[in-house]
Amino acid sequence: MKITDAEAYLCHFPLPEPFYPSWIPGIPSMNNSLLLVRLMTDEGIDGYAAAVAFLGELKGVPELLKVFLIERDPFKVEDFIKVFRSARAVGVRAWFMEVALWDIIGKATGQPVYRLLGACSDRIKAYASTGELREPARRVEDALAIKELGFKAMKLRIRYPTMEEDLAVVEAVRDAVGPEMELMVDANQAWPIHGFADYPTWTFKRALQTAMELADLDVYWLEEPLAMYDYDGLSSLTASVPINTSGGEMNADIYDFRELINRRCYDIIQPDVTLSCGILNGKKIAGMAEAAGIQLNPHTWTNGIGFAANLQLMGAINNCTHCEFPYEPPGWVPGARDAMLSEPFDIDDEGYVRLPERPGLGIEVDMEKVKAHGEKVL
Ligand SMILES: [Mg+2]
Repeated sequence: MKITDAEAYLCHFPLPEPFYPSWIPGIPSMNNSLLLVRLMTDEGIDGYAAAVAFLGELKGVPELLKVFLIERDPFKVEDFIKVFRSARAVGVRAWFMEVALWDIIGKATGQPVYRLLGACSDRIKAYASTGELREPARRVEDALAIKELGFKAMKLRIRYPTMEEDLAVVEAVRDAVGPEMELMVDANQAWPIHGFADYPTWTFKRALQTAMELADLDVYWLEEPLAMYDYDGLSSLTASVPINTSGGEMNADIYDFRELINRRCYDIIQPDVTLSCGILNGKKIAGMAEAAGIQLNPHTWTNGIGFAANLQLMGAINNCTHCEFPYEPPGWVPGARDAMLSEPFDIDDEGYVRLPERPGLGIEVDMEKVKAHGEKVL
């Protein structure tokens, strides 16, 4: 089998309402923006992948990589990993392209990717992952609605100027939802996006104090409490607090994760196969984490294709406990998140996301919608 051609579309799927991500303070998202890549083969099988985009910053990536892909065997994932890794030398994050190879391999063999990698779970417990900073009263309303939908867990964002304001949100939600609902908290301290609005940079002591308070509120994990490369700080923090720490969505490749695991920076690492490493490296990282007694719960907040790709990794490893289900109405809703798919992902009656049974990534990309909202860039 050979890859014969590649196409790419820069898409902007409009959101029903503006979305204000806590990780990019001061600038709302009006669209779900992504670069979609479609690899074609001589056997008529297409593979899809997508990278989160902002404007046109990724337009040249598929063209740059096309020369390495054409006429080559899509099953040689390890060989392509070397290509995607070398793209970093010219400042390009190309890991998302690896996902398209797995989509082809799965379709060619008639199996979902997670089964080819050694399946472990057919479904994963979902947590509703909110994305905005919202005042306690409004967040309580959201939390009750999320519980009503059947979610057993949800993640809150905290990034207010003071710790008291952060804790007020979590306290109010814990009071409202009761003790059974699992709560996670994300401080997004590894996302230093400057230039639009101020946000607090946590000191080690603020992270420590916040973690102790969140432990009293029975929060399951505190995500990104410090900067992404503050390995020493993260390691000390994790050793000092009773609550789980988590992070890693902005770290990359097996080398960053080797450090995060060996130094015990987090109790739970969160690579994203489209941002950090690809699916096969995700499986390798899961093995390193498994040996250290560390969980791996992938980051998924990009788009429907990215969600599908990370879900395949979740199903293929034995140390994943929760599936991030991005959900923040009225702006970030499943219909907009998965707008490029023929149908959006949902949870089952017990609050789990089921692994798709179809081969490859198990999704159907709707090329009419892609063309309607996308500019062809390759
Ligand atoms: Mg996060």
